[in-house]
Amino acid sequence: MPKKSGTKKITELVQKEKTSSNWYNWKWQIQNAIHDIPSFEKLLGIKFDEAKTKDLQKTLEKFPLSITPYYLSLIDVDNLENDPIYKQSFPSPAELQMERCDMKDPLAEEKDSTVPGITHRYPDRVLFHVSNVCSMYCRFCTRKRKVGDTDFIPDKNILGQAIQYIRQTPQIRDVLLSGGDPLMLSDDILDWLLTELQKIPHVEIIRIGTRMPVVLPYRITDSLVNMLKKHHPLWINTHFNHPREITQSARTALAKLADAGMPLGNQSVLLAGINDCPRIMKALVHKLVKNRVRPYYLYQCDLSEGLSHFRTRVGKGIEILESLIGHTSGFAVPSYVIDAPGGAGKIPVMPNYLISWTTNKVVLRNYEGVITTYQEPDNYAPVFCDRNCDNCKLELHLKDANEDKAIGIEKLLSNTDSTTSLVPRENERFKRRNNKPNK
Ligand SMILES: *Cc1c(COP(=O)(O)O)cnc(C)c1O
Ligand code: SF4
Repeated sequence: MPKKSGTKKITELVQKEKTSSNWYNWKWQIQNAIHDIPSFEKLLGIKFDEAKTKDLQKTLEKFPLSITPYYLSLIDVDNLENDPIYKQSFPSPAELQMERCDMKDPLAEEKDSTVPGITHRYPDRVLFHVSNVCSMYCRFCTRKRKVGDTDFIPDKNILGQAIQYIRQTPQIRDVLLSGGDPLMLSDDILDWLLTELQKIPHVEIIRIGTRMPVVLPYRITDSLVNMLKKHHPLWINTHFNHPREITQSARTALAKLADAGMPLGNQSVLLAGINDCPRIMKALVHKLVKNRVRPYYLYQCDLSEGLSHFRTRVGKGIEILESLIGHTSGFAVPSYVIDAPGGAGKIPVMPNYLISWTTNKVVLRNYEGVITTYQEPDNYAPVFCDRNCDNCKLELHLKDANEDKAIGIEKLLSNTDSTTSLVPRENERFKRRNNKPNK
């Protein structure tokens, strides 16, 4: 526990700035973000001992520190060690602890990068890293290896090359702006970027993933919102992890975005010691939907380096879903996903509700533990699809069905593809078959 030099609350310490008009100026907030231990100690009125300071210093050399004065002001100094704001924003020497399973780029975002700034993993959508910086660096960030690396700040030229890739790839119908935080870019650059993307006929929607409503809600200015709403359909996904983050300022920012017609989603990361609790998560999702934000994903913490102290067991996520599904509004329940190592993408994980199955009946259980059945129809005429829609009674105009082939498991299920199994590249049995000695 750090020594406290006074009992003054951070809110009092920053009161002077707060009363000045600067406090609500997002650029001032970024210019005055805290990047070093002494400033942090001074503002919070605490002092770490020498050994801890040394360890913290070492951590900072590897992973940078940045906390906006706004986010800092939410820290409860009296309960520092357990404070969810402090734990998400202030470094811990535990970040230097490497585990056997840790990886630099667990999601293989670089391997799946087609041009700088683009990760093209799924058939119809891309992740577009438009910024490498954030106003606050989350300690649990999966892109820890990259963010804050100010050697790489995508300029118009680099962004232009990525836009060119999207232009030349007609399968892409959904572009997800990510980073870093895309809202670190100026309104003008963002306006330019969104305009360029919208000119591409096959880009149907654009999404922005940003933590600004959480860590710097003053970034959501009227002029930003007025610019963004010219670019509909635009979806915004934000990132609240704990109900304490939904402050009056955050609510105002969310209301502005929602009033401007942007569908709002939220992704949370399941974090040990921060939100690994069904009751905390339920409070969070209720506060989100009250503010017109739909909980979208709950992520299992990735295998990136320096995150081991944040990871929970998968069972904790299932336990959380178990206490949400059925217990609360369906749209308040996020999908719990594991973003699988090696670029396999997001895999949803759920409690099991299907208990058994016979030829015409399924046995299910509900959230209360009631075991029940669903009788399947006797007279269902199955649709055997040959992907020749002209011969089919179902109404589908072929121009609406522009995907060509079945992919992955879809292939195994289809009636048109003769694939009967998907075989791992490293399969000993198949290797033996192929390496049979000549007779
Ligand atoms: C998460 C992600 C997307 C978007 O996935 P959705 O499930 O559609 O939200 C796209 N590309 C990459 C590389 C991603 O990690
Ligand atoms: S419900 Fe349990 S885990 Fe959650 S805050 Fe209360 S005591 Fe902690």
